[in-house]
Amino acid sequence: MLENIRDAVRKFLTGSTPYERAVDEFIKDLQKALISSDVNVKLVFSLTAKIKERLSKEKPPSVLERKEWFISIVYDELSKLFGGDKEPNVNPNKLPYVIMLVGVQGSGKTTTAGKLAYFYKKRGYKVGLVAADVYRPAAYEQLTQLGNQIGVPVYGEPNNPNAVEIAKRGVDIFVKSKVDIIIVDTAGRHGYGEENKLLEEMKEMYEVLKPDDVILVIDASIGQKAYDLASRFHQASPIGSIIITKMDGTAKGGGALSAVAATGATIKFIGTGEKIDELEVFNPKRYVSRILGMGDIEAILEKVKGLEEYERIQKKMGDVIEGKGKLTLKDVYAQMVALRKMGPLSKVLQHIPGLGVMLPNPSEEQLKLGEEKIRRWMAALNSMTYKELENPNIIDKSRMRRIAEGAGLEIDEVRELLEWYNNMNKLLKMVKRRRGDIEKLFGGK
Ligand code: GDP
Ligand code: MG
Repeated sequence: MLENIRDAVRKFLTGSTPYERAVDEFIKDLQKALISSDVNVKLVFSLTAKIKERLSKEKPPSVLERKEWFISIVYDELSKLFGGDKEPNVNPNKLPYVIMLVGVQGSGKTTTAGKLAYFYKKRGYKVGLVAADVYRPAAYEQLTQLGNQIGVPVYGEPNNPNAVEIAKRGVDIFVKSKVDIIIVDTAGRHGYGEENKLLEEMKEMYEVLKPDDVILVIDASIGQKAYDLASRFHQASPIGSIIITKMDGTAKGGGALSAVAATGATIKFIGTGEKIDELEVFNPKRYVSRILGMGDIEAILEKVKGLEEYERIQKKMGDVIEGKGKLTLKDVYAQMVALRKMGPLSKVLQHIPGLGVMLPNPSEEQLKLGEEKIRRWMAALNSMTYKELENPNIIDKSRMRRIAEGAGLEIDEVRELLEWYNNMNKLLKMVKRRRGDIEKLFGGK
């Protein structure tokens, strides 16, 4: 079960097992957890092979402990498994766009139909809902109520027992009236035994409607059953997308990976509550954080993010040295935010080459002062407008006064920040002439 991964992360980070053995144990735990959640075995082994490869080829950055670094790699590779860096594309690639929602009884199809309608309406699309669940009493009323709430028309035939007929007519009518996105809500199915009749109906509906997307709606807490269930649905009508509901009620969601594995579909949204606006575009990284145990890995991820930002600015400094561009106060700000994320300044400074620009060989005392200064300068930067950050030259005396007041600082402190900023740009330009200094700046590369 995916939930076991969280325990493994905790055990790994807090246990006293020596690093190498702890890594081996963790990888075994990870494989076990993924395989028992019915994730394809090949996929699991290629994932762990990739993790091991990175362990042997890469070096931990100075701001991370070895164990933290390892977890950040696991996080990275798991995120890729769930769709990588990017959020999925949820915009229709053609209009009109017909979506058919399928899933077991109670998984949240009808609620999600309303949420989707609201989501797309807000994005400027003309949306229509079709009530094609003829089994659940009051299914039509439930959808109509949602439609009324958000001002989206609902098509239904409460007395017609033929779901395929209703769906077909509903879609045709909406297409004629130039609706952009048509969402068809269907009946709950269990995917087993006597429910085969419902799967047949679904298949027929799929063939008649030829929807642009079939979305499987699954409850986050479904667990092990997900693989089997998703496969059955997938056989009846090819699943293109997945929505995981009730993510607010559980931090589990293990079934999602299995459903992805069974269908090859993309997770597009997650439901995070009963209300109409509680739908989020799926974010693989956030999801993986939940699987790994947000509390345990948040700090590590912050450091990694800080490091990435820090490296970006460092690269920009390199460009300035090469005579390209200029460091703006926005960059300075980003740099300071990045530093904060990486940990206490006293710890970070010692590890990071290049910071000598700010404080060469800092003593404890200087570090404290530096920390306090960064805090005060950040307050000043926070009080600046976007324009001022982009182009500090425009900051005259009256702007300085305003900034100082906004930040609760003396005007001299703001002036000092600006001077420091100007000096830094000058210094970077000088480095080009005195190349030897680059070694000092970048820690002897
Ligand atoms: P259907 O049978 O698949 O159409 O499921 P419904 O849409 O009727 O939803 C079943 C129950 O789940 C209802 O009580 C919903 O309010 C609830 N529900 C749906 N989505 C979510 C969600 O994301 N979070 C929570 N907490 N409840 C949800
Ligand atoms: Mg329903």
